[in-house]
Amino acid sequence: MKKKIVILGAGESGVGAALLAQQKDYDVFVSDASLINASFKSELTLNSIDFEEGVHTKEKIFSADVIVKSPGIPEKNDLIKELRKEGVEIISEIEFAFWYKGGSKIIGITGSNGKTTTTSLVYHICKEGGLDCAMVGNIGYSFARQVAKEPKRVYVVEISSFQLDDIKTFRPDVAILTNITEDHLDRYEYNFENYIASKFNIIKNQTKNDVFIYNADDEVTVKYLNKFLNSTNPLPISMRKSLPQGAYITNAEMHIKWQKEEMNMSVEDFAVKGKHNQYNTMAAGLSAVVMDIRKEKIRDAVQTFESLEHRMETVATIKGVEFINDSKATNTNSTWFALESMTKPTILILGGVDKGNDYSFLKDLVKEKVKAIVCLGIDNRKIHEAFGNDVGLMVNTTSAKDAVQAAFHFANKGDVVLLSPACASFDLFKNYEDRGKQFKEAVKDL
Ligand code: ADP
Repeated sequence: MKKKIVILGAGESGVGAALLAQQKDYDVFVSDASLINASFKSELTLNSIDFEEGVHTKEKIFSADVIVKSPGIPEKNDLIKELRKEGVEIISEIEFAFWYKGGSKIIGITGSNGKTTTTSLVYHICKEGGLDCAMVGNIGYSFARQVAKEPKRVYVVEISSFQLDDIKTFRPDVAILTNITEDHLDRYEYNFENYIASKFNIIKNQTKNDVFIYNADDEVTVKYLNKFLNSTNPLPISMRKSLPQGAYITNAEMHIKWQKEEMNMSVEDFAVKGKHNQYNTMAAGLSAVVMDIRKEKIRDAVQTFESLEHRMETVATIKGVEFINDSKATNTNSTWFALESMTKPTILILGGVDKGNDYSFLKDLVKEKVKAIVCLGIDNRKIHEAFGNDVGLMVNTTSAKDAVQAAFHFANKGDVVLLSPACASFDLFKNYEDRGKQFKEAVKDL
């Protein structure tokens, strides 16, 4: 008899899992409590996959041998609580895809910040290095869909903490943990340690033949490292000290050391700028050396990588004023790194929906580099309270257009206008992409 699989949630990962399950001859049923997006629905229909929307039919769900839970469904959901109580096996789509990846290798990337940038960079290097590879996971194209449609020798997988919550056997050959800062605590019972444990899940099944690349300058990672470390090979990256193995930067030179391999490269030649991107480049370069990619190829790829939209993206320079779109910076940690990399007087566009921000963390950098703050949000009180005494020029705006015009008004030749809001965008925009796009359009209209 066919094994019965129920997939909860019909987004990209749920539909990917359904396609793979059907190919592997499961009896598949997809259930989504909300309405399913039209293109996913037609995909399910076209592939004759049984589904329901707007409802969860318990009889069908509880008879499953295995359940694949989409990352968007929280643990406190009543159905999930009941299923856990019954002891039904619940896995994530990442775990399910892993069951069928065969002998292929996995580079898995997680962290609070820098996942997408590092994943894209690793993929770019692997591709330029001639590997048969795909970029999948949280980045948009599900791992399971790729395994079903076009298996590859190497999968570069971006993984969120939610996707790591329900892994059982998933084991990346190379794991990268970019950093850990407080995020998504609403999903982890407001307990930071639960979130940290979920991030370290990336190494839980690793063994002595695997590698774990982590940031040795990241306080939280280092504090918890020993608690979670197993038999994997830990490889640190750092900007503070030279290392016998791993990657580090001293005097604007990156050094990579792995077993007997060594590679150097000038930071000047990195395509992506900013200190955070130096960490991302170290992690990506180190993973490429571990994967045995030729050093010239790694160097070339690091130089030709194009920075991603909405992440420290240079938009234009108008009358000597440079405009940078870092709309993806939705927490203070990201904004800290953006400000840290500024070398010119900065007009900072800040604000939106605050996820419990502690702005004091940005105070020193704001005092040092910021000449004006343009608030872009409905409620800007916390920003005024935090920086009112440090920055002479502050103004409130409620559209990207007004924000850009106000910032341009404050700017002189040689200044930079930086949109790095430290907040989510939902008060005024659809999402961070929409905010970044509107910002870029407003700059072009100047
Ligand atoms: P994620 O996919 O984890 O959200 P992104 O690569 O999209 O991360 O980057 C989002 C923002 O996070 C960037 O705009 C940048 O400001 C910040 N950031 C990127 N890499 C790092 C890093 N290694 N450490 C801290 N912050 C980073």
